Amino acid sequence: MKIILAIAMLLCALPADAQSWIVDRFDDVKVLRYEVDGFEELPLEEKLLVYYLSEAAVYGRDIVWDQNFRHNLAIRNLLEGIYFSYTGDRSDADFVAFETYLKKVWFANGIHHHYSMAKFVPKFSETWFDGVAPAAGHLKEIIFNPELYPMRVNQAAGEDLLATSAMNYYEGVTQAEAESFYAAMVDPSDKTPMSYGLNSKLVKENGKLSEQVWRVGGMYDRALFRIVDCLEKAAKYARGDQKRTIELLVEYYKSGDLHTFDRFNIAWVEDTASRVDFVNGFTETYGDPLGRKASWESVVNFKDLNATRRSEIISDNAQWFEDNSPVAPQFRKPVVKGVSAKVITAAMLGGDCYPATPIGINLPNADWIRRDHGSKSVTIENITYAYDQAAKGNGFQEEFVLRNEDRERMTRWGSLGGNLHTDLHECLGHGSGRLAPGVKGDEMKQYGSAIEEARADLFALYYIADPKMVELGLIPTLDVAWAEYASYMMNGLMTQMARIEVGANIEESHMRNRAAVANWCYERGGVEIVQQGGKRYVVVPDFEKLRELVGELLGEVQRIKSTGDFEAGKNFIENYGVKVDRELHAEVLERYNSLGLAPYSGFVNPRYELVLDRNGSPEDVVVVYGESYVDQMKRYGSDYGTL
Ligand code: ZN
Repeated sequence: MKIILAIAMLLCALPADAQSWIVDRFDDVKVLRYEVDGFEELPLEEKLLVYYLSEAAVYGRDIVWDQNFRHNLAIRNLLEGIYFSYTGDRSDADFVAFETYLKKVWFANGIHHHYSMAKFVPKFSETWFDGVAPAAGHLKEIIFNPELYPMRVNQAAGEDLLATSAMNYYEGVTQAEAESFYAAMVDPSDKTPMSYGLNSKLVKENGKLSEQVWRVGGMYDRALFRIVDCLEKAAKYARGDQKRTIELLVEYYKSGDLHTFDRFNIAWVEDTASRVDFVNGFTETYGDPLGRKASWESVVNFKDLNATRRSEIISDNAQWFEDNSPVAPQFRKPVVKGVSAKVITAAMLGGDCYPATPIGINLPNADWIRRDHGSKSVTIENITYAYDQAAKGNGFQEEFVLRNEDRERMTRWGSLGGNLHTDLHECLGHGSGRLAPGVKGDEMKQYGSAIEEARADLFALYYIADPKMVELGLIPTLDVAWAEYASYMMNGLMTQMARIEVGANIEESHMRNRAAVANWCYERGGVEIVQQGGKRYVVVPDFEKLRELVGELLGEVQRIKSTGDFEAGKNFIENYGVKVDRELHAEVLERYNSLGLAPYSGFVNPRYELVLDRNGSPEDVVVVYGESYVDQMKRYGSDYGTL
């Protein structure tokens, strides 16, 4: 699972130099850079491990382009050919529109938007394009004809999802055929089932269905060959269990055998000792409308020891938090085991994690491996830090925060408050509480995930403002908590509406939870909306009093879940978390849009250079920053193009 940035992150807006973090800006996207703090201090062996894992990460790039749409690579070649050899006027309106189009295609790893899945509409003229690409043929038709391949992934029920999706995971196969093909493989009594179909394309040839497996010697051979080569080099610098883990991954890429993939995942999830870690493989299934086939991705990283200490302190004190919570004693856990989560520094992003990047990852995805062997949950803190830096002075805070004291607190403590909230939410919140005897946990039905998110958020909000936080050294002052309170309530009551379309209700469960919590507190006077100069602002009149309300609501939401009280859960979400005040919504949209903020962000990677000594042996690895977005795309295309 991937954890994607919430709009709340924009609240940590600090008034200073943000431009140095923004590498490029076009359409609805801004491209940022990130810093790999602590890399220089790694021992040489770990630097070399990062280096070869990073090479493997970039060599997989072409795979995800082809998975997204089978004409993507041909179109990229065509567009790059035009762009880099163009001799005409580069300020010409058609060329400028063409450049924006290409930058969007690079960002999305193809011609469909990475988030909305809709095909990009070119703003340059067909006549101009004919002039620069007279032999484009059917590729021109694909780019310009809106009828062709309009969506990468179509989720609208009622239509054949494969026929109406442009993704390249199936060919000549109907949805019904694919579903029965895989249904026949699954044995319902198997307690440890393989991830059938995860690493292959399903095709129909001469009336017969077969899988083209992604492995060395199979489909994507040339990319996987390079990845395996880099992994074998990386394994030389890994130790013990991690060496074996990388060898299992190599074995899996060579055979395509999904049993080996399971063995790899078990070894990977059980390795919590290695400082350097990685994701590398066919991982997430969001790009397949049937949720079976996985896109290729990679994240190379190492543990941030300082920040991880924070989540360890929280984990170590999990029982104290549980025993002292405002939840009724019969709904608390008598023995609680803190979930171990680590904070990491990303060193390289690849495949489906590049340029658009998650801020957290929780793997592996196979349910039975999670059940029997656990999972690893990571927060990528140098990425959220870069987001914060780039949001400095974007005007958001000035527009939406009324009081000076709140702005100052957010500026000083917003990042720490946000990160600590995430830690408390993930490490403790979700794991806290217990069900009454006879309650199964699925009683909340469609309100289940919003209730669950509210429970975790309330646990975090309650404890972030506890004097125990200061005592444990997690925060220097409760001002950190008040910064988080002010941000959270403003987001829940107002600013998250910037993501909602005019006339729509709130659908997404995290957003429903935030709105429900904030509106419930608002109705009880814990939060106020004040009007000034024709604009509305969210203000907390008394933070201590708000905390009491948070505690009260935590007790109630836990009671709802513990007793399976569907009616109460439904009322809480429906009454406070779904509906949108149309007038306030319009005002938020207008104010938000006037700031010209880009709703989507992604990253360029740093570059790693191997330094050799006189005998040709590696002596050091140096990290180099400063590459532009266009230069990086050009270099990746020419140096790491494999398919
Ligand atoms: Zn959650």
